[in-house]
Amino acid sequence: MTGNAKSNQFKIPEIMKAWVLGGPDELSIVDKPVPEPGMAEVLVRIDAIAVCGTDLEIISHGPPAMIEGGLPFNKNWTPGHEYMGTVVKLGQGVDEFDLGDRVTVEIHAGCGQCKRCRQGMYTSCHNYGKNYEGNDKGHRANGFTTDGGFAEYAVNNINTLIHVPDTMSDEEATLVVTAGTAMYGLTELGGLVAGESVVITGPGPIGLMGVAVAKAMGAQPVILTGTRDNRLKMGTELGADHVINIHNENPVEKVKELTGGIGADYVLECSGAAQSVNEALYMCNRGGRICLAAFPDKEVPIDVKYIVTNNIYLYGIRGEGKSATHRAGAYMEQGAFDATKIHTHTFQLKEVPTAIKYARERIEDAIKVVVKMR
Ligand SMILES: [Zn+2]
Ligand SMILES: [Zn+2]
Repeated sequence: MTGNAKSNQFKIPEIMKAWVLGGPDELSIVDKPVPEPGMAEVLVRIDAIAVCGTDLEIISHGPPAMIEGGLPFNKNWTPGHEYMGTVVKLGQGVDEFDLGDRVTVEIHAGCGQCKRCRQGMYTSCHNYGKNYEGNDKGHRANGFTTDGGFAEYAVNNINTLIHVPDTMSDEEATLVVTAGTAMYGLTELGGLVAGESVVITGPGPIGLMGVAVAKAMGAQPVILTGTRDNRLKMGTELGADHVINIHNENPVEKVKELTGGIGADYVLECSGAAQSVNEALYMCNRGGRICLAAFPDKEVPIDVKYIVTNNIYLYGIRGEGKSATHRAGAYMEQGAFDATKIHTHTFQLKEVPTAIKYARERIEDAIKVVVKMR
């Protein structure tokens, strides 16, 4: 089949349906032109998208989304970043993907030229949001600084695309980037190898995927702490060796007990609770590492003396750098864990506000809410 014959396979309209953000918490569905892929880009027909906690933050408050150097409100901008779909048009020079390929996306393409992008830390690009006239460094982070996936189509840089195998459902494919975020924190930034002990605090989507990834990497034991027994049970199903309900047990004492009295090699902090950083410190062994993946709204006191005298490494992560998402996708393709366990609800494109409400209010204990276009 020639390229031209293949391109007829997908009828691409000129206009699509897309949700756009007005003022805070004001979403409306509008007609927008279908975007054109440029060099090293493809047009993705979006088939499914998951709602992320960061979407809720952005829709209500703005940051970390940044459009034309400022808040994302009233700029005809489309949020949403955890999507998957089908390649329906190739930009100039693209031969890495073919029409009809199923793909899932990571978010940040970065600028590709700053120090961090050159190190593969494109989620920490120094030219964040600089992609508009008069200040164009080519930065792209769909659903953050460029149009996202609560729409029928989106343009993606090929660096942000991961092939989806036929064996993986659309819903599962939307979760690859969440697993990739947990993986980036533990392995690419943290250096986790098999046999090390890991505590994950907070069984939200990233925490639960952190459990799955840590277990798949060969960590032992993998310990999950939280407050809700049904979430902890899910953690057990995803590979946690031990779960601790912090309402019933002292998590620091229990972690010490489960790690031969010395504490864990890694703590992946996903709760964002005010006391969580110090608790993570006290759960960690000397020379251990703490990855901060969530944050309290206010500043919190930190026991610096404990960090110094115990040689503890403390680092934040932002998103899913160093192609961690590709590796998470490979684990999922191999069946190392079943990410679909965290997918709880499904809605249609026209129901995006309902999907967001379910995710925000955790209606029926919603964890990952997916919007499915077809
Ligand atoms: Zn997200
Ligand atoms: Zn950059």
